Order: sequence, then C-alpha cells, then structure tokens
Amino acid sequence: MSSVDVAIIGAGVIGASVAYHLAQRGCKHILVIDPGAQPGHGSTGRATGGFRAQFSSEINIRLSLLSRDKLRRFRDEIGVDSGYRPCGYLFLARQQATLDALRAAQALQHATGLDEAREVAPDEIARLNPAIKTDDLIGGVFCPTDGFIRPLELLRGYLDRARQLGVEVRYNTPCTGFEMRGERIAAVRTPTATIAVERVVNAAGAWAALVADYAGVELPVSPLRRQVAITEPCALLPEHMPMTIFTDDGFHLRVRDGRILLLWPDQPIVDDRFDTSISDEWLAEVTRRAHSCVPCLTQASIDRQSCWGGLYEMSPDKHALLGAAPSVENFYLANGSSGHGVMHAPALGHLLSEIMLDGHTTTLDTHALRPSRFAELQLNAVSELL
Ligand SMILES: Cc1cc2nc3c(=O)[nH]c(=O)nc-3n(C[C@H](O)[C@H](O)[C@H](O)COP(=O)(O)OP(=O)(O)OC[C@H]3O[C@@H](n4cnc5c(N)ncnc54)[C@H](O)[C@@H]3O)c2cc1C
Repeated sequence: MSSVDVAIIGAGVIGASVAYHLAQRGCKHILVIDPGAQPGHGSTGRATGGFRAQFSSEINIRLSLLSRDKLRRFRDEIGVDSGYRPCGYLFLARQQATLDALRAAQALQHATGLDEAREVAPDEIARLNPAIKTDDLIGGVFCPTDGFIRPLELLRGYLDRARQLGVEVRYNTPCTGFEMRGERIAAVRTPTATIAVERVVNAAGAWAALVADYAGVELPVSPLRRQVAITEPCALLPEHMPMTIFTDDGFHLRVRDGRILLLWPDQPIVDDRFDTSISDEWLAEVTRRAHSCVPCLTQASIDRQSCWGGLYEMSPDKHALLGAAPSVENFYLANGSSGHGVMHAPALGHLLSEIMLDGHTTTLDTHALRPSRFAELQLNAVSELL
C-alpha cells in the first residue's frame, strides 16, 4: 500500500490553496485527488470572479482583507496574475430596510478596517454606473477596492506552485471511501488504490458532505444551484463597470471579456440537488430584470449556448467550516464557503495550514468558523429546552 502524509480530497481552488500553503511551509508527501480530468471540474470553473470585502460579519470581512493582501502579492508569490482588479462593488437599495441593513454592515466594515467603503446617494450612483435606472433607488453603498479576480488563474497558480514544491495532483481519481481505525482515517480509497494517510483534508466543495460521510461525519454543507446568463459580445457597458447589485432582489451584473453576465439568485426547486442545467423560465426572468434595471440591455442578445449553471456549497449560517472535524482526529475541513470560496481561498488555505502545522491560527482568529459550532448550537438548544 502506498502512503502519503496529507491527502487532499478535491482539486478546486480551496484544495489547491491548502496544498500550496502546506507545501510552502515545508510539509512533504502531499497528494491531491479529484474525479475531474483537469482543473476546474467543480464550482471554481463556474464562478463569475467577484471579489468583495463588503460583508456583514466580522469574520468574512477579515477573511476578505487577508485574501486581498494575498491577491495583491499573488504575482510575486505565485508567479501568476490573479486578475484582481479593484473596479468596486455597488450595492443598491430600493427599500429603507435594505438601506438600513447595508448601513449596519458598513458600520461593521469600518470598525474592521475597511475604511474606504462608503454610502452613496442616487446622484453618485448614477455617476458610478450611468447605465442603470436610478429613479426607484433610495441609496446604496460602494467600496472601490472590491472588484474582480480570475478563478481559474488562482487555481492554476496554486496548483502549479504546489507541484513545483513537490505536491502530487491526480486527476480522474475520486475518493470512494476511507478505511477507519478507531477515531482516525487510516487510508483513502480510490477505484485503483488504497493509500495510507496521516491526515486528510476535505476540500470537495459542494460534494463535501458525501466525502465526510465516508468518515461517519455529518457535515452540514449542501449544494445550491446558481445560474448565469451571458450576452453575446457587445460594447453596451464598460469592462471596468463595478459589480452592480440590486440588493432587494439579488439581481446583479458585471462585464467580463466583453460580455455581460447576469445573475439572479432564485431558489430553484430541482429533483437532483447536483443538477446544474439552465431553466428557460429563469432565463426569461433574469432577462426581464436586466431590461428593467439596465434599459440599454434591451439591445443585447443572450448567448443561450454559453449560459451556465454551477453549485454553491451552502452551510447553515453561510460561513465556512474551517479546522479539525469533530470526532475524527486526523480529518480537516475547508468547506461551506457558501458562494464566496474563490475570493476567500487564499485566506482559507493560509489559515488551514496554520491549524494543521501549528495547532492554531496566528494570522487571525478563526473561532467563528470552527466546525463544531453547529453541534454546539444543537446542544445549547437541547439544554435550553430542559
Ligand atoms: C455561478 C457561480 C458563481 C460564483 N461566483 C463566485 C464569485 O464571484 N466569487 C467567489 O468567491 N465565489 C463564487 N462562487 C463560489 C465558488 O465557485 C466556490 O465557493 C468555490 O469554487 C469553492 O471552491 P472549492 O475548491 O471548495 O470547490 P470546487 O471548485 O467545487 O472543488 C471541489 C472539487 O472536489 C472534487 N470532488 C468532488 N467529489 C470528490 C471525491 N469524492 N473525491 C475527490 N474529489 C472530489 C470536485 O471534482 C471539485 O473539483 C460562484 C459559484 C457559482 C456556481
């Protein structure tokens, strides 16, 4: 039986970042496995490439600020352009309750060091994005250092650097089970091999609960379909337009490589939770919203063949689970980023390497992300009832 020190399940941007950060700290004999034939088989290849620090929880703001530092140094450290472009994120409000929520989040952002985020009135909104209809807007918020990244370039950069540092990456290789010895994973099974392991990292994105189940761990991470409509190439909106989000209903848009990406997060009912097909009803609705919010888009044509769907990896509180799994001592989780996994991958890989190699994080406090929090909540709920 072959053996490795660390097996990483999943070669998406999170697994790649963990592999790189462990190897860069001197960790040897790391193996990454993935069922895909090439990088980007999972959600990383479907992401639209938004980056923001405008979050409403302190830990997500801090993860973004750590990631942003690392993205700014990415070319020097990794040798690849991460594509970080600070074009800004513009959140818009039609209703008072929405604006109040944006203001409350911004107060926390300022307290956490994101000083440049600011409130914007309708006249400034019209200057920041002249294409949108502003007559029903009451205000919004804008952060000029938010913007865009290139998900597949981050993935390629981390995988290439990890390989240069000795990490092995095997494609066409799913994890099909674990061999347990007491409270430990002794080996990882694939269709062609059983590999003895010292430690295992679950970086299987939207499929993470299936992998955790092999170790008897109930992981509260579930897939959620997200669909993206894309126009034919056009010059209706500028490439540097900020990500523009109509916060009341979640409709948002950006320009990428001369095409406009349109998103609207409905909650589709699908029989197969892993289905990523595009629904025609959704496409008609997102197009209707685009025409109503950005009138010039009535001149754009949707490229139906190029529209795509993908999966978010949702956790119950929409925050990542990072650290040792409860009850299995050599099993580590980097899961549940809930649709923010690309932008947070630099930070999460860095922090998990600290947890695995030092026993704790020093760069920032990740207590809020501890995987045990959901079980603790259930315990508290039970003790309150009693
Ligand atoms: C439409 C859409 C838009 C998005 N936009 C953004 C955005 O703007 N910004 C942002 O930060 N995030 C965005 N996301 C979310 C982002 O894509 C994810 O959070 C991120 O890719 C998660 O990375 P990951 O490495 O955990 O998952 P993945 O990239 O899915 O990688 C997990 C890997 O695990 C593999 N795997 C599955 N089962 C097994 C197994 N049994 N054995 C071995 N390997 C296995 C899969 O093949 C996959 O390659 C978007 C997602 C979607 C769908």
